[in-house]
Amino acid sequence: MSSNVHLFERAQQVIPGGVNSPVRAFRAVGGTPRFIARAQGAYMWDAEGRRYIDYIGSWGPMILGHGHPKVLEAVAKAAQDGLSFGAPTEREIELAEAILKQVPSMDMVRLVSSGTEAGMSALRLARGYTGRNTILKFEGCYHGHADALLVKAGSGLATFGHPTSAGVPAEVAQHTMVLPYNDIEALELAFKQHGASLACVMIEPIAGNMNFVRASVPFMKRCRELCDQHGALLVFDEVMTGFRVALGGAQSVYAKLIPGFKPDITVLGKVIGGGMPLAAFGARRDIMHKLAPLGPVYQAGTLSGNPVATACGLTTLELISQPGFFDQLAQRTQRLMHGLDAAAVQAGVAFSSDSQGGMMGFFLLPQLPQNYTQVMTSNSAHFNTLFHALLDQGVYIAPALYEAGFVSAAHTDADIDATIEAAKKAFASL
Ligand SMILES: *Cc1c(COP(=O)(O)O)cnc(C)c1O
Repeated sequence: MSSNVHLFERAQQVIPGGVNSPVRAFRAVGGTPRFIARAQGAYMWDAEGRRYIDYIGSWGPMILGHGHPKVLEAVAKAAQDGLSFGAPTEREIELAEAILKQVPSMDMVRLVSSGTEAGMSALRLARGYTGRNTILKFEGCYHGHADALLVKAGSGLATFGHPTSAGVPAEVAQHTMVLPYNDIEALELAFKQHGASLACVMIEPIAGNMNFVRASVPFMKRCRELCDQHGALLVFDEVMTGFRVALGGAQSVYAKLIPGFKPDITVLGKVIGGGMPLAAFGARRDIMHKLAPLGPVYQAGTLSGNPVATACGLTTLELISQPGFFDQLAQRTQRLMHGLDAAAVQAGVAFSSDSQGGMMGFFLLPQLPQNYTQVMTSNSAHFNTLFHALLDQGVYIAPALYEAGFVSAAHTDADIDATIEAAKKAFASL
């Protein structure tokens, strides 16, 4: 049996940092990443045979838990029929119909292979539809690694951003404005100064890439109003929240709080693929008609709508559309959050938590933060101690304090109780 340490050494010889996506490298928390050998239900086992209760769920997709028999059966059957055709299939229609049924703001949807691809394409579509170049995003929101979206805030309000990554030309970043999340004043100023050139506002409605931060209802309402007044599109990046916080995504949560509310373009990923590479973007018919082959906005993909991935996604959506699925998932998640809250109070640890459906976040802060700057006031040394104390007890949470967590339908009350017990011990070590 190979040890995690040995595998990590070997990996680093042939893969940059030993990983194929940076956060997996444990750089933020230190230590050796666990190399996963297999997973079942709520558990993953590493290369050394150690079991972990998994609260990452492949960063969101594994909402049913790992290895659901119906999903595996659909995937196996689809694979037998062919791995890829590069020609249309009936299952793509079925998946598109299943997605549109739950997300009524979209009339049409295009399937792609990753959230990055979906976000990048949504941006091109928004620019092509409006004939404008400028885009507005918010600090702490991640929309995949397309050049125009890897931009950090400029200094001062309503200024243009700087590239976050080497290799992104300043000329690309200069079309991206970055504002603090939940800041209505900054939003109003940005529209006042640049409203006429804005193609879209792109937002994670419940941000999951700065841990878990909700857009406030007044802020979301103002985003919608200002987009309408200035002819910009509101793009909801629901790659994480779609089919995760509720069957209808975060937009269904805000529609209950803001009558008539809906975004113009929606970006999906993660859960809709059920663990296989699949993502999507969709919108009203007049917007989607701008897309090739109907319109002038080009977008394509060799593996888009892949027959095995669509089988996985379709079966996943069928199973999570059963009545009561999300009520149960939300109850489980809340049970965990309440247990952690109580354990923190007992230990005298400053702590706050929030959740929606099967997505959750907690902070070593007395109050829930409202933006990225506040999230980053969290004590990272304490988080790292907590992370390793949990990992040592077989509880696997995201290896960075700015990541959300996920509960699946496979997590039992016993798993959640065991997690709360582990947290009690971990809090004692802070
Ligand atoms: C994960 C994520 C993405 C990127 O999706 P990939 O499939 O990793 O490219 C984009 N937006 C949000 C909100 C995400 O959580």
